Amino acid sequence: MKVLVAGGAGYIGSHCVRQLIAAGHEPVVLDNFAYGHRGAVPAGVKLLEASLGDAAALDRIFAAERIDLVMHFAAFCYVGESVTDPLKYYQNNVAATLTLLEAMLKHGVKKFVFSSTCATYGVPEKMPMTEDLPQAPINPYGQTKLDVENMLKAFARAYGLSFAAFRYFNAAGAAEDATIGEAHDPETHLIPLAIWAAQGKRAALEVFGTDYPTPDGTCLRDYVHVDDLSRAHIAAFDHLAQPGTALFYNLGTGMPTSVLEVIKAVEKVTGLKVPVKYSPRREGDPPALYANSQKAQRELGWQPKFRSIEPIVETAWRWHQQRPDGYAD
Ligand code: UDP
Repeated sequence: MKVLVAGGAGYIGSHCVRQLIAAGHEPVVLDNFAYGHRGAVPAGVKLLEASLGDAAALDRIFAAERIDLVMHFAAFCYVGESVTDPLKYYQNNVAATLTLLEAMLKHGVKKFVFSSTCATYGVPEKMPMTEDLPQAPINPYGQTKLDVENMLKAFARAYGLSFAAFRYFNAAGAAEDATIGEAHDPETHLIPLAIWAAQGKRAALEVFGTDYPTPDGTCLRDYVHVDDLSRAHIAAFDHLAQPGTALFYNLGTGMPTSVLEVIKAVEKVTGLKVPVKYSPRREGDPPALYANSQKAQRELGWQPKFRSIEPIVETAWRWHQQRPDGYAD
């Protein structure tokens, strides 16, 4: 299939582009490079520079390319920023997505794969988390993703759009050949920050909260390898043939890992000490988030290849060693 990958130069999108090629599809990358990296797009892949909110550009793109399916990774993803600048989040994550969907429908493109998030659940009442839990986001980031999920449901019913929305847990790691990896600016995620602290690029890793009701007092998260996420997306393609299909899947390994366990894994993999500073809780962090991904396993035949934190950290470590300055762009 010819697949338009919106946000294909970003972290998860760029890994998906490689997996699409490996699976025999033809990706076309759409990115405005607000956060994406040119170096993350493989040579030979068509690269279109435009914003999702640019209706005229989208119209030209869909008229020129015969796109079979759109994957959408082009959202802003900083929870804290979404609280201080919600306009930016509603504009990009909701309004621009609407523009993209409008252009798709106008040109008869009716298959869509969407990056959603476990942040749509808010503070869940049950663990591990299944797809049928109530969704009550506690920040504008999670709300914008839920808004799009609801938009998609209505579009499936009204216009026969077929979609799969994947609610990610903590995307982590890098391509196994270390050609691409995680390079956020600013970086806020635990694994890259722990590696930087180990390398001495940061004075210390701040551990946000040690008084959570968890076995070691730090937050539990479900770290899932970015290539495993990508493979689930591609597995969904075969399930979108029927017009009006609406699919929702949680994607995680189901294995809760604490902040201290991540630090231990980074120390073991790198052979370096992670200097740590214990800090108060970070606002908006639920104590525990981990997935029940049986639905994806059952319906899509998805099996995460990476099932524990150390091998995931190993891939991240190889990337950081190979590209100490990230993409340097
Ligand atoms: N965390 C931390 N120090 C950091 C960054 C993150 O202690 O510098 C913790 C954070 O409180 C959370 C976990 O690590 O419990 C994962 O955070 P991250 O930002 O990587 O992902 P999130 O779960 O927020 O999507």
